[in-house]
Amino acid sequence: MGGGCRGITRRRWRRPDLSSGPYDARSRITGRHGGRRRGTRQYRVAVAFGHESRPATTEPAHDHVGGLMSAEAHAGGARFQEGVVVDAHVHTTDYLPAFATSVYRWATRRTVPPLFFLDQLASAGVDAVVANAVGDRAATAWWGRPPWRAVEEQLRRIRVQAERAHVVLATSAVQVQQAFDAGRMAIVLGLEGGDGIGMHLSRVDELFRWGVRLLIPVHLRDNRIGTTCLPWNRYLGIPSPFRGRRRGLTEFGGAVIDRMNHLGMIIDVSHSDAATLHGIADRSRSPIIASHSGARRVEEFARFLDDNEIRAVARTGGVVGLWPYHYKGHGAADLDALMRHARYIADLVGPSHLCLGTDINGVPGMLAGYRGEEDVRVIAARLRSAGFSQDDTEKIMGGNFMRVFAEVAPHEGSSS
Ligand SMILES: [Zn+2]
Repeated sequence: MGGGCRGITRRRWRRPDLSSGPYDARSRITGRHGGRRRGTRQYRVAVAFGHESRPATTEPAHDHVGGLMSAEAHAGGARFQEGVVVDAHVHTTDYLPAFATSVYRWATRRTVPPLFFLDQLASAGVDAVVANAVGDRAATAWWGRPPWRAVEEQLRRIRVQAERAHVVLATSAVQVQQAFDAGRMAIVLGLEGGDGIGMHLSRVDELFRWGVRLLIPVHLRDNRIGTTCLPWNRYLGIPSPFRGRRRGLTEFGGAVIDRMNHLGMIIDVSHSDAATLHGIADRSRSPIIASHSGARRVEEFARFLDDNEIRAVARTGGVVGLWPYHYKGHGAADLDALMRHARYIADLVGPSHLCLGTDINGVPGMLAGYRGEEDVRVIAARLRSAGFSQDDTEKIMGGNFMRVFAEVAPHEGSSS
């Protein structure tokens, strides 16, 4: 996409491999966090954003208890780690109208996990989620209105659900951290499928104004931005003989990436095919993520990433999300299989490039032993028993995503 050398020179900062601990190595490199005591809120805020982005409090938030935070120290009450826990990819029930949700859930009733609502976040110990509207026709066609209006309506409903659940709508990492420090849960708005953008670059700005901070450019269909790794019909086993050339990131798609970089929105390459993913990785000046994915070398599945794709995401400073999806023989079958993805990706690019994206409410089936958001803690526990340190586990469960979010959208301060 003519972005070869530009991709290198425009990138701000190459990620050091922080293998010894989440922030110590970086602290040494930048020297920014000297004098901050580890385990204090002040320290966490400073390191989470790579700079002291707001007035730091003077008192330690709480004491360490064997690396875990004592439950009563946080209003959430169900904490299982000290730092912010982030699920980088969920859906609320609002991406389909109620009758369509019923049809979908009836059709998948044998495998679909129980419904998830935002008011369950606190008891699950999950501090922040990226809640996604769905922008391709598989979802927007059900709404009986133009696709872009369907996206707007979905986002409105997510905001309403968040408000009713007393969940903060966060548009920056600072706001997620502020919510966390106040004992509140937070959502970040996302859109999965940029199909409704059409050829209107101004709609990227519109998304930003609506509070959306993450876009998955390509979902289940090829669109004006790029091409998908797995079209909707092939999920269902229906072949697509007349599919056009997989052209990767388009010229217009390149402009979308530039605009997202400029505004400060996270680019999520989940569902992009290899050509689109590499096009985006070369083009983007900010870290990119694949919020719900896995390693192709662990399982040959079109939705997983090969080594070059994982390296491309990591090179931007971004993260690949562990995804407990399992349906019709595809995806990690159990927690052991999920840990094999974690280990493989960590060995390839380092644990600083892992996160978690459960896709709850968005998938017809989950792996054995994972029933819903309340089991996010089970994944954390499994990471520990699979040999990840407490620090690495906390990064995977939230710290890494927060680092990316802070770098992508660094300028937005206090909440509205
Ligand atoms: Zn998805």
